[in-house]
Amino acid sequence: MSRVLLLFIDGIGIGIDDPGRNPFAVVRSPFLPLYQQNPEPEIPHQGLLIPTAADLDYPGLPQSATGQTAIFCGINSADALQRHVAGLPTPTLRKLIDKHSLFIDLKQRGLRATFANALTEEYFEKLKERISATTRAQRAGGYAPRMLEDLRQRRAVSHDMTNAFLRRMGYDVPLFSIEESAHILAGISAEVDFCLFEFVLSDSVGHKGDLDMAVAIANKLHRFLDALLPAIDLDSTTVLLTSDHGNLEDVSVTTHTTNPVPTLVWGAGRERCRTSIRTIMDIKTTILSLIPGGLA
Ligand SMILES: [Zn+2]
Repeated sequence: MSRVLLLFIDGIGIGIDDPGRNPFAVVRSPFLPLYQQNPEPEIPHQGLLIPTAADLDYPGLPQSATGQTAIFCGINSADALQRHVAGLPTPTLRKLIDKHSLFIDLKQRGLRATFANALTEEYFEKLKERISATTRAQRAGGYAPRMLEDLRQRRAVSHDMTNAFLRRMGYDVPLFSIEESAHILAGISAEVDFCLFEFVLSDSVGHKGDLDMAVAIANKLHRFLDALLPAIDLDSTTVLLTSDHGNLEDVSVTTHTTNPVPTLVWGAGRERCRTSIRTIMDIKTTILSLIPGGLA
């Protein structure tokens, strides 16, 4: 039983050991052996890699809207539409998120939960009901989002781990190193029962099919985990890293892939996760089972 930090990394699967198409096979980060399914790899800080089905029992390529809804709601979101749905949640998926979001369960049980990513006023004003599944899942629980002012005060992190994206958009925020962002995230996680961080560049770069760019993303994820995990009390925290569908692990195609996604687990709930996670639909219930009072 512990607090949980969920790292949602969009669009990474477990691919084949081919440095010509799999950036993880180039970087060979011990944290991200996403080129190896057997034997069970040795991962620093006693990490565990659980190959996790993302196909939701539907043919075709898994997609973000249905995949993320499945992760945060613990349901087969593809059933509602009889297919995988790309991009942002449709009205049907929005209803499912507003009813079944993990954040609603946490709120009802009086638990402290947060989405660590810094968001902007413009994001909410511009997108209105077209916000991402992740942001919607958080909003459904009624938890306040973290905004730019939180980022400036080092109480939030930006999705790219450096704030470079926000600065390019013209926002007045300091540049952080990847390691600084990792330490800030560890601090936020230590104050709550459940903390979510979302990284999406893995999917957008995966769609470009460019190995050098994909290697840079894999390196970024390596540096982030290398700084983050020693900063977390793994006796009282379970760190979960998972994804909605494959993409970045095979740059020979610019689409998503049908590969299993990784669920990587470090810390207190490692063995429980080993037995309870088979598909991305198992993530929500597993998280609730790890937090004291989560399944009450
Ligand atoms: Zn995508």
